[in-house]
Amino acid sequence: MVGVGETAPLRGEIERMIEAGDLEGLLRRAGELHGHLCSYLAYGVVAGYTAMRELGVTSRGMEEVVAIVETNNCFSDGIQMVAGCTFGNNALIYRDLGKTAVTVAKRDGTAVRLTLDPEFVEARDGEYPEATELWNKIVARREPATAEEQERMMRLFAEMSYKELRRPVSEMFRIKRMKIEVPEYAPIYASVRCAACGEGVMESRARVRDGKPICIDCAGAEHYVLDGRGVSLTRGGPKTS
Ligand SMILES: [Zn+2]
Ligand SMILES: [Zn+2]
Repeated sequence: MVGVGETAPLRGEIERMIEAGDLEGLLRRAGELHGHLCSYLAYGVVAGYTAMRELGVTSRGMEEVVAIVETNNCFSDGIQMVAGCTFGNNALIYRDLGKTAVTVAKRDGTAVRLTLDPEFVEARDGEYPEATELWNKIVARREPATAEEQERMMRLFAEMSYKELRRPVSEMFRIKRMKIEVPEYAPIYASVRCAACGEGVMESRARVRDGKPICIDCAGAEHYVLDGRGVSLTRGGPKTS
């Protein structure tokens, strides 16, 4: 039976691609997570690859490597797939700065920071007129589009991503070696049950009402939410119909 008792590194194939410099293979894998191919995903793949090579490290998703990303655009998914630092394994730290930038660090604090060079971005301006036009129409303005236009946009985006992958990394990024204080391993919290809704909730997130634990939603308390606009404080979940 496949899977049970599996001890081989699950990221073995990705680590081999990093070792072999197989950027196209890494981009395809990142596309599995991201759902589409695009230039910023490619930049994330190159950034993750460059950082992993610079640091000479492998990742088993146990916080041996930590990635601090400064944007929640397509770039971050390239990082997550290649560096193995994800939203779920606590090795991904998000700073809501709106920069296409990442700092990847080993536990000893050895780190490399990569920021997408604005001059590189400016030089790309006007290079993909048809893709840009379709993107403006379909994504930015949310105008109705035919299935052919959708298909065409996705294909142009995929072509772009492979083309961008081959740009020299020294032009793409400003790269800085540094030493940082790596955040502690994520703490483990006990779970309690909300006295109002009965759902399980991490103890550190529970509030107390009449001496009993209660979840943030039942308490009507504020909490942080990360969505397409970034991090903000809110109260209550999505409206139900
Ligand atoms: Zn994308
Ligand atoms: Zn509750």
